[in-house]
Amino acid sequence: MPHDDFPPASVWLVGAGPGDPELLTRKAARLIAAAEVIFYDALVGPDVLELASPAAERVSVGKRSGRHSKDQATIDALIVAAALGGRRVMRLKGGDPAIFGRTPEEVAACHAAGVPVRICPGVTAASAAAAAGGTALTLRGTARKLTFVTAHARAGESLGLDWQALADPHATLAVYMGRAAAATVARQLMAAGRRADTPVMVVVNASLPSERIIRGRLSALAFLVETIGDRDPTLLLVGEAVRQREGAAARSGAEPAVAADLR
Ligand code: SAH
Repeated sequence: MPHDDFPPASVWLVGAGPGDPELLTRKAARLIAAAEVIFYDALVGPDVLELASPAAERVSVGKRSGRHSKDQATIDALIVAAALGGRRVMRLKGGDPAIFGRTPEEVAACHAAGVPVRICPGVTAASAAAAAGGTALTLRGTARKLTFVTAHARAGESLGLDWQALADPHATLAVYMGRAAAATVARQLMAAGRRADTPVMVVVNASLPSERIIRGRLSALAFLVETIGDRDPTLLLVGEAVRQREGAAARSGAEPAVAADLR
């Protein structure tokens, strides 16, 4: 076991994947077990944290809309201080740390303090959501482009997305943090020319026992997300690639009982 890759006074930024602990990489699992202090996000599941040593300190720095959470500068400072104190420090994030994960800020803070920092990738929510729905994110000849966007905006600000580019009928769109803005996303995409009957798939709590899949068409997107709670991580997928194939649900038997088919 290459223990020297997690020396004292260093930091690992680790992707915890979408929630199912079996979707952790083996490297992530090994590093979690070796960490002395773990700063973790709200999206990191309890089963993942169970892999930590009983002696490890676990610190929730959870970011969740509406709940108290530490701001980014505080998180940066906490990580750096723990490493300078000589500990093996882990920053554990949902999904892949490279995607909407504030990783650049944390890496920069470590560099500025002379603290060694490395990154372990994880399975991102879009991959888990596609797998949950028994589909792919691309479709040969039809969906040749895949775009990840975040639809999270500060109060009063617009989403600032290039709707014209996102309306490309040959693209699949994966919208992170998009539940609250679902109506806006649908309206803007249709205004930019995306067809109203474009398939959409909404996946809540992908890979977790509470996983829910809701399918429909773009014009109904606002309605499709109505029953989803504020705190449930939700990914919106838009495009031909996520169209439900004839008989696919029946064959796979993988569709959860609560799946809705709203056209
Ligand atoms: N770095 C993460 C994304 C962080 S942004 C990743 O790579 O997945 C947080 C957003 O990710 C949530 O608002 C939601 O849109 C999405 N997300 C994360 N985990 C999810 C899950 N298990 N199911 C559905 N969406 C999820």
